[in-house]
Amino acid sequence: MRWENLTLESDHSRADTALFGADAVVTRTFDTPEFAGITFHEIRARSIINRVPGASRMPFEWTVNPYRGCSHACVYCFARKTHSYLDLDTGLGFDSQIVVKVNAPELLRRQLSSRRWLGDHIAMGTNVDCYQRAEGRYRLMPGILAALRDHANPYSILTKGTLILRDLDLLKQSSEVTDVGISVSVGFVDPELWRTVEPGTPAPERRLDVVRTFTEHGLGCGVLMAPVIPFLSDHPAQLRATVRAIAASGATSVTPLVLHLRPGAREWFMAWLGRHHPHLVRRYERLYADGAYAPKWYQRRITRQVHDLAQEYGIGPTRAGTPRRISEPEPTEHAMTEPTQLTLI
Ligand code: SF4
Repeated sequence: MRWENLTLESDHSRADTALFGADAVVTRTFDTPEFAGITFHEIRARSIINRVPGASRMPFEWTVNPYRGCSHACVYCFARKTHSYLDLDTGLGFDSQIVVKVNAPELLRRQLSSRRWLGDHIAMGTNVDCYQRAEGRYRLMPGILAALRDHANPYSILTKGTLILRDLDLLKQSSEVTDVGISVSVGFVDPELWRTVEPGTPAPERRLDVVRTFTEHGLGCGVLMAPVIPFLSDHPAQLRATVRAIAASGATSVTPLVLHLRPGAREWFMAWLGRHHPHLVRRYERLYADGAYAPKWYQRRITRQVHDLAQEYGIGPTRAGTPRRISEPEPTEHAMTEPTQLTLI
């Protein structure tokens, strides 16, 4: 990292000590347009492999999350609530106050070497995106992937970040010694919707280019079609356009997931909806009247439509000519684990 480009804000560091305790290192801003308005809280984590609680519905038991907060700034992001555990704002604060575990690679290497670690699968991208913009500066993932490769430890990654292609060689090396699953999240391909609801992410077409590149390099890559946003991206023509684009990218699978509106995300999303699509507010209040999830009938309808389209366009594990040297991760979305629920090994 080129530390001479960094600005040290010592006043904020005192506040960080209160927020993060003795693990707080320093708060920085970068004087570049890419990071305008973003503050980074660098901490030295005490543990980096997190255990998902037994009661979790998640299909994995262990996670690694080098960041908290996400500049991809998806309005619907389920992880927003986790920022409140740090006394940080779950709206703009989640998008712009990024916690960076600067010692993640060395800590992971040490924990993988522990006799207590049994080499189980590790899921990444389960809370926030590990290939968000900050990763371009901090470069934590190459060290993390190298440690996993050296220990032949199976893992999976879910991302919206095109930056993952920077680590293509490390992913290939890992796939030669262990099971690696890669999944890219693309819920829709509508450019207008993308600009307003996922303003900090690479465009859906660029994300599908990531899938295409992995495919060309013989690495299978699935697409998590998430979220499908009721009344905004669920028209049959929109679903068809999305699945058709996913098929054209060479994805080995497509898994639809309808929008969840958990506390933290719900308030932020509904405020956005009121500004951009006020006529839909009442319909959303009815659809999500019972809580965070859309009704089962709605979820089933979307799943059936997407599966039918996937069949029509030939997406699936048995698709002819699709390499599967990298195994598929189970379908999840960012923020399916919450840091405060995790037990550190
Ligand atoms: S949904 Fe994923 S990419 Fe979007 S802000 Fe949340 S963690 Fe980041």
